[in-house]
Amino acid sequence: MSEKHRADEADRRRRTTDGVASETVNPEQPDAVEVFPEGEFDLRPGADDCYKCTTCETSCPVAAVDKSFPGPKFQGPEQWRLKRKDEIEIDPSISECSNCLRCDTSCPSGVNLAQMHNTARGEYVDNQLSTFSIKYVRNRILANYRTSARLASMFPRTANFVMNFKPVRWAMEKILHVPSERDFPEFATQTFREWWSERGGAQVTNPDKQVAYFHGCYANYNTTEVAKAMVRLYEYFGYEILVPPQKCSGTPMFANGMLDDARRHAETNVENLAAVIEDGADVIASCTSCSMALRNEYPELFDIDGIETLAKNTFDALEYLRIHEDLHGAIQDASVSGEFAEEFAYHAPCHSRNQGLDRQAIELFRDLDGVQIEDVGDSCSGISGTYGWKEEKYEKSMKIGAEMFEHMEAAEGTTGMTECPTCGMQMEHGTGYDVHHPLEVLEAAFVD
Ligand code: SF4
Ligand code: SF4
Repeated sequence: MSEKHRADEADRRRRTTDGVASETVNPEQPDAVEVFPEGEFDLRPGADDCYKCTTCETSCPVAAVDKSFPGPKFQGPEQWRLKRKDEIEIDPSISECSNCLRCDTSCPSGVNLAQMHNTARGEYVDNQLSTFSIKYVRNRILANYRTSARLASMFPRTANFVMNFKPVRWAMEKILHVPSERDFPEFATQTFREWWSERGGAQVTNPDKQVAYFHGCYANYNTTEVAKAMVRLYEYFGYEILVPPQKCSGTPMFANGMLDDARRHAETNVENLAAVIEDGADVIASCTSCSMALRNEYPELFDIDGIETLAKNTFDALEYLRIHEDLHGAIQDASVSGEFAEEFAYHAPCHSRNQGLDRQAIELFRDLDGVQIEDVGDSCSGISGTYGWKEEKYEKSMKIGAEMFEHMEAAEGTTGMTECPTCGMQMEHGTGYDVHHPLEVLEAAFVD
């Protein structure tokens, strides 16, 4: 059991006896009856801490556009209680939750809604969703994007043609219910890892400033320009970069209730990243959903040696530079010209909000010569990873994203900026704007 969960357990035990440890109250008194038996991870503190204020309900973008969705409080504390009392099954509406985590971010009582929802979704998929159903097969393919991307990147040009070939998309919609309205992202002709090995790995050696890069799937197979920008930027600041073997962060697997798949990937990631941390490196990620998985979701859901070490030493790449370098000072003397000298409409991903990182790009770029940046508000983009890639959820995803599209169009600039690759996809899809990552703009500011 992780430290956090041990602490929760200790806290729970204290609270069951009005703030005094049961062992010290009255040795004669029999143990309290265990009304709700614990699972592998105890979710009871989440249920006990909810005081039904409904803040989470008002922050849920799915509940805002779908009146039949029972909302985060039901999916978390209420369902947990109901289920333990009457041994009922998980309500199928858990599949309608997009895993945006806005409820988790907003709860004033610190209820761990993300952990409760992920656990319920995993249980629903394991026990109630037929593995022969189209929904299960489609969701498993979407959740295991790394597998499809690896295959596609062996023949990237062919894959790029086939995946957006209309008859193929028509068949995918009819058979797998993948909406034909969306454009498949392009696969890079050379993956980031191929590029990394071709350039001979790290160009800077510095045992005092080492970072291990968790690139995730998308920056490796699709937006390799983001990963390369990150490498050049960090080398400019004198960091030695390590690129350990790694698998998917698991984010799309959590969102689809495929917890066994996520665990297999997490085991590899924890083993390899904890080893480099032991040797003195910190871990950085360029995707805010990946950093969130490594630092929050892993210790909430799995018990793997080294998991707490990884959680404590993982950072978003921009966050890390802001902590360890005088980035704001350096920005004052820098300027951007050319492709990235733009007015950006910036969207903070929900998963960056969950880590308290939603203002960092705005704070940084407002002082950068040659760049204008405007925050397009705190609404959800609506795509939530694989959520908007399901036919039955496509309309909902676009309704959720409508506020962001509107604000982007009202902004001065016509180029988008965000840290999340799937939010970027949705921004492009809803407005037609090109979308960039903050690391690309920083590279343009500092690296020749
Ligand atoms: S915001 Fe937190 S405390 Fe309030 S209803 Fe939701 S889970 Fe309960
Ligand atoms: S994770 Fe997002 S969609 Fe799911 S219940 Fe919470 S706010 Fe709603």
